[in-house]
Amino acid sequence: STQEQTPQICVVGSGPAGFYTAQHLLKHHTQARVDIYEKQLVPFGLVRFGVAPDHPEVKNVIHTFTQTARSDRCAFHGNVVVGRDVTVPELREAYHAVVLSYGAEDHRAMEIPGEELPGVFSARAFVGWYNGLPENQELAPDLSCDTAVILGQGNVALDVARILLTPPEHLEKTDITEASLGLLRQSRVKTVWIVGRRGPLQVAFTIKELREMIQLPGTQPILDPADFLGLQDRIKEMPRPRKRLAELLLQTATEKPGGEDAARQAVAARAWGLRFFRSPQQVLPSADGRRAAGIRLAVTRLEGVGETARAVPTGDTEDLPCGLVLSSIGYKSRPIDPSVPFDPKLGVIPNMEGRVVDVPGLYCSGWVKRGPTGVIGTTMTDSFFTSQTLLQDLKAGLLPSGPRPGYAAIKALLSSRDWEKLDAEEVSRGQGTGKPREKLLDPLEMLRLLGR
Ligand code: FAD
Repeated sequence: STQEQTPQICVVGSGPAGFYTAQHLLKHHTQARVDIYEKQLVPFGLVRFGVAPDHPEVKNVIHTFTQTARSDRCAFHGNVVVGRDVTVPELREAYHAVVLSYGAEDHRAMEIPGEELPGVFSARAFVGWYNGLPENQELAPDLSCDTAVILGQGNVALDVARILLTPPEHLEKTDITEASLGLLRQSRVKTVWIVGRRGPLQVAFTIKELREMIQLPGTQPILDPADFLGLQDRIKEMPRPRKRLAELLLQTATEKPGGEDAARQAVAARAWGLRFFRSPQQVLPSADGRRAAGIRLAVTRLEGVGETARAVPTGDTEDLPCGLVLSSIGYKSRPIDPSVPFDPKLGVIPNMEGRVVDVPGLYCSGWVKRGPTGVIGTTMTDSFFTSQTLLQDLKAGLLPSGPRPGYAAIKALLSSRDWEKLDAEEVSRGQGTGKPREKLLDPLEMLRLLGR
């Protein structure tokens, strides 16, 4: 029958996971229709709001995603917050299958005193600020200090350090927002410390990003050779990609730069450094207590070796003066709806090969499925797997049979909810004066009330 030929599928989230899942579904089922719901007005998730502006080649995936969105069996519905505007059970009712691909939007807090002081931000919010994420536009960080400290040693930490130190004229031809470029032009930040709890062999960034830092115009690296004592032999035994990364770190710490590097560093006005074996203990307030003026770090040592080595405090501490603290120690997903199982410890939706446990017809892909690690390529492979699983279930007759209304039903729900919200607002405004309602007059205000 026609219903069986036209499965209605919906995807929640329009980052790489959402788009790669949709792409695979449309390619491998010639009848399926896919609706993508997204809470922002615009698509592409972290490709638009995360990936650094000076890495335009990474954003080329947008072309493929746009092709997918242009398919006449695919539709993008922006400005719909699933879990608030429409629930997951409502989506499951309207579609044969639902795929949750809503990423990992929360950052992990440091959970130390002083974290709430002005001048302390999550790197994620800072990235959202310079990349134009609407909810981060208020951030406007004060860049009048001379030292910034970034906690965490992954690629996002290096992205943030690079943006803080790149000569602003090099960013002018990128898609960075004009407002952030304006603040970066006035920035007085001269030194950026990138702090990690563990040592040079445990860093989480990759060699390409490290090389970019080493070659950053107008800057020089600060690495302490003492951090590398006794590591030479261990580096030799490391597996290939890590070995090359560790060798580059060692070389930067212990050898005098030659050629272009030497010439550039001789005139460098700015510096960045990696500080190892330090764990954040407290953000130190300024004398008037009104903003961050430094950070107290607990000195650590390693227990065990290799990637699984643990940092344990030695009891010593070190205070590092700074006016800007950015924490970049990881992300976690949020639960979306009480009907969807959630593992608060791992911060993911429990699933078996993309099937959400105990909820037939519900699937997940991307960061919300496997946790917030891995690049866009990893997210692609993972999303193709989820789509494959879903299509297998469809073929095996495990998804509901009979027609499903898809977007038509959700559209009706969303518009009746819009009126209910405005109605409630008018009634409550009328209450004070004993009127049945105080009518709303300004369409822009109405849109604002609707979160538009
Ligand atoms: P996301 O990209 O986060 O997409 C999730 C989408 O779901 C978002 O659009 C979000 O708005 C939407 N959403 C959330 N909640 C709801 C809801 N309730 N209702 C509707 N929609 C919702 N990888 C690289 O390969 N190269 C890089 O240079 C690179 N740089 C990065 C820089 C940063 C700062 C970060 C954080 C990551 C970077 N990554 C990079 C990793 C890459 O971005 C991820 O692998 C990938 O984006 C994960 O895809 P996702 O679709 O699971 O999540």
